[in-house]
Amino acid sequence: MTIAFHPDISTLMAFSAGTLEEPYAVVVATHVAMCEACREQKKRIDTIGGAVLASAGEAAMSPGALDRLLARADDSIELTRETSRSKAAADSRLPAPLASRLAGGLESVRWRWSGPGVSVADLPVSPGVDGRLMLLRVAGGRPVPEHSHGGQELTLILQGAYQDRFGRFGVGDIADHDEDVEHQPIAEAGQDCICLVAVDARLSFRNRVIRALQPFFGL
Ligand SMILES: [Zn+2]
Repeated sequence: MTIAFHPDISTLMAFSAGTLEEPYAVVVATHVAMCEACREQKKRIDTIGGAVLASAGEAAMSPGALDRLLARADDSIELTRETSRSKAAADSRLPAPLASRLAGGLESVRWRWSGPGVSVADLPVSPGVDGRLMLLRVAGGRPVPEHSHGGQELTLILQGAYQDRFGRFGVGDIADHDEDVEHQPIAEAGQDCICLVAVDARLSFRNRVIRALQPFFGL
């Protein structure tokens, strides 16, 4: 098993800084647990973040120190990009960040019918958290329903695979899309495709309202 698709570096930086909303953070943490390349990348980002904080005082006193620091940071980011292009082997067990929310594993999930060949199951997030964390199961050969596209959407493949215009997404691959992305993934025949998905709950609700109003406005 190889991982070909990783989170955007901006997503990984937000994860490292602790500014991602919980549903997105769980998806990224699960990918990072499966992906050696992203573990290395995150270590570098953590180091850059620490260096920036540590030398904030130095930069204030010494002209040019901040420029030198930023140049070093640029070099490190380029290195991480190189690392992220390489493919890494992934672990086949349920990764720890997800296992803690799914005590009985994927076999214990209580699926809810959501359309022909499609089931969903919401996973718990902390009270007051903005966003939704869910599992999506699509029967082999079926199209993956459009579940959000109102904000950032992170999808991590846990079982099976799907294909869209970006390529083939298999176990461990992450699709990091914002609202502008249009794609129609289709689950690969022969096996259910199970994904861990984080979406923005408010925006996906707005999308539903807009869709419900479309027939009235001829959109
Ligand atoms: Zn990765």
